[in-house]
Amino acid sequence: PRFVFVTGGVMSGLGKGITAASLGRLLKNAGLDVTAVKIDPYLNVDAGTMNPYEHGEVYVLKDGAEVDLDLGNYERYLDTEMTSKHNVTTGKVYRSVIERERSGDYLGKTVQIIPHVTREIKQRIRDCGEGHDVCLVELGGTVGDIEGMPFLEAVRQMGNEQDDEDFLLIHVTLVPVTNNGEQKTKPTQHSVKELREIGLHPDIVVGRSDEALEDETREKISLFCDVPEDAVISAPDVDDIYHVPLFLEDEGLDTYAMDKLGVERRADDTGWR
Ligand code: ADP
Repeated sequence: PRFVFVTGGVMSGLGKGITAASLGRLLKNAGLDVTAVKIDPYLNVDAGTMNPYEHGEVYVLKDGAEVDLDLGNYERYLDTEMTSKHNVTTGKVYRSVIERERSGDYLGKTVQIIPHVTREIKQRIRDCGEGHDVCLVELGGTVGDIEGMPFLEAVRQMGNEQDDEDFLLIHVTLVPVTNNGEQKTKPTQHSVKELREIGLHPDIVVGRSDEALEDETREKISLFCDVPEDAVISAPDVDDIYHVPLFLEDEGLDTYAMDKLGVERRADDTGWR
């Protein structure tokens, strides 16, 4: 399978999940078999014990797993059913590593984040991708959060282990607009710099903003973040989140991603429109 990782910069709640689910839908329309994994870097094993006032409603999957609401987006956008394994949390990862340590599986080794925890993370991601053309992997939280570090390190390792074509990194970031109507790229530059510091380089930058990105903003992001201009995707606020795939399609996100992933369009399902 090919893995498409989606990270978020500047702040949470930007629309990473919606962006990932929308790309998934476009790839599915192109005839690809798409699945998704949501990574939640919290220590809770699952969302079942989390306060709904703080975290939003718990979403329950067919197998009874209590998960983040984002999984609901994937089920609806991809028209598929997710299971417990499609939500990877720090709690689940550490629990398995510690259980394995207790049963002596590490043969006396010092158990460490690198390589033991990262190996567990990679295994879980690969397990979800098995048998599919594309596996979307959304990393919850924001680049730079301490909680997210082991996951980003696992992504970096996967980037080295996978063939170039089987690995795509999309960074979703905020492009604020000042009172005098200027689109600012500095927060984007800083968050991409943060990714670079940990050895990751985005292939595509999605700029979330109140309005469409201006040409000048696109050029600036391209230059400072070292991605081609057609890899800078404008994702303005829309009235209906089910219109997001259409906007991203017009921006050429699916075409660019498929080109990078080296996959051909197998169908042209425009039923979504
Ligand atoms: P994240 O995964 O970054 O935390 P989500 O994908 O859950 O963010 O989206 C956060 C909120 O923003 C949701 O309520 C979603 O409906 C809304 N949203 C996402 N993308 C857009 C968009 N392009 N236009 C308007 N609202 C959006």
